[in-house]
Amino acid sequence: MKTYDHFIDGQSRKPESGDYFDSIDPATDRAWCRVARGNAADADTAMRAAQAAFDGGWGRLSMRDRADCLIELADRLERDWESLVEAEVCDNGKRIAEVRAQFAGLHGWYRYTAEQAKKIEPHRLDNRIPGVDNTAHYRPYGVVVAITPWNSPLMILAWKLGPALVAGNTVVIKPSEYTSASTLEFAALCAQTAIPAGAVNVVTGYGLEAGEPLVRHPLSRRVTFTGSDIGGQKVAEAAAAGIVPVTLELGGKSPQILFADADLDNAVNGILSGIFLSNGQTCVAGSRLLVEESIHDEAVERIVARAGALKAGDPLDPATEIAPLANRAHFDKVLGMIADARSAGAHCVLGGKPVAPAERPHGYYLPPTVFTGVTPEMSLWREEVFGPVLAVTRFSGEAEAIRLANDSDYGLAAGIWTSDERRAERVADAVEAGTVYINHYRSVDPGSPIGGFRRSGYGRELGPDAVRDFLQVKSVWRGSAACTDPFPRD
Ligand code: NAD
Repeated sequence: MKTYDHFIDGQSRKPESGDYFDSIDPATDRAWCRVARGNAADADTAMRAAQAAFDGGWGRLSMRDRADCLIELADRLERDWESLVEAEVCDNGKRIAEVRAQFAGLHGWYRYTAEQAKKIEPHRLDNRIPGVDNTAHYRPYGVVVAITPWNSPLMILAWKLGPALVAGNTVVIKPSEYTSASTLEFAALCAQTAIPAGAVNVVTGYGLEAGEPLVRHPLSRRVTFTGSDIGGQKVAEAAAAGIVPVTLELGGKSPQILFADADLDNAVNGILSGIFLSNGQTCVAGSRLLVEESIHDEAVERIVARAGALKAGDPLDPATEIAPLANRAHFDKVLGMIADARSAGAHCVLGGKPVAPAERPHGYYLPPTVFTGVTPEMSLWREEVFGPVLAVTRFSGEAEAIRLANDSDYGLAAGIWTSDERRAERVADAVEAGTVYINHYRSVDPGSPIGGFRRSGYGRELGPDAVRDFLQVKSVWRGSAACTDPFPRD
């Protein structure tokens, strides 16, 4: 069985404690590798290595030179991405077809970021004071702590690492304890580029043991976190102790609003991809389906027919349509939420029980699950499942649709399905979510900011300001006229 150590200062490094933990393949319920169990001492070593790389010159290189290093990384990823696929599939059980599609595009996130960075230059600021110039300059923070979840480790890392690094920061990554391997393999790949040793470090382990010491470390200057709202809250509290700014990309309970005038074929495709791709283990999962009364039964029938025909299989088989959920604890949590939904009175019209395929009898498989009659008092309406569970509710009229859509603590994404363009605009404006899709769902692109309202977090990733977000602005004043005497005496 392969053993993974931390990756610090350009090389693998054993954990100070000598402790490791098993990473379990969710398709087989068996350990497939061992991972270093990090603690505060490992966090300290990594933070110091990152600070040394920052002081050693990465922070002072020109933006163009750093962008060139990122482009070199993008080139390497474009060539070598296949080597990273298996580790991620074994760690989180995602279908190889999805992982391959994600990884084939990984280089694009870095390339786009590098091009954006080249446009950032000092610029003059308006001011009303005679004889004085004022210029904005941009400076990196120093060491950035990047904490990632298990659902799409390398793609989410690209959203953080590219902008943080090209801005001149050095980075210590804490991947999820469930999915450390692909991040470690990726860090080794970074070390084969001109990016200096110590600029990209990985400390593996559990949130409280390895993650929190990084956030609380005196050298931590900026934190970027993707994960649950509860994890995000703890990270923000820890960062607050050092007045360290944080970006939080958290969970969601995103509504899909299906009006009777929608193109139903198109909408069903979007709704299926929103909740059943990646087993619903995506932050923007469209997990609440609000359907206009008159088409409720037909829409549910079509969704059930399509989702019910999907076949479970080995995630390493490109033909597999349903892969296991990512880990045992999560699987148990999702089954618990299904049981709660049943006892609260929601009707399970599809799935709802584990069904492992013959070739993977011990895997954590749950087929697509659809509940109708879900009401706002139920936990299935309010809480993020992060699994293949669709909660369906009827509405009548636009006002009720908007009220129901906004009846959530979260505000990450929303989908609107209608052929009435003016209504689409009105509803898009009224829905409280960081991303709104109209007759479309689930796209992410480096040019488009992503982030949440309410408990879905704060700050944004991607988009035109992604690199600026990892820079501090320095306002430099320059006087060309003599200063006036502040205490004149006649
Ligand atoms: P999680 O909060 O359990 O863990 C996320 C990461 O935080 C892990 O690396 C974990 O070890 C670490 N962590 C946990 N507690 C910590 C602490 N006190 N200090 C430091 N680090 C700590 O989340 P998860 O289960 O890995 O991921 C699933 C969640 O992520 C879902 O809620 C999902 O919606 C969310 N997510 C959001 C986005 C987005 O862009 N908004 C994208 C993907 C996933």
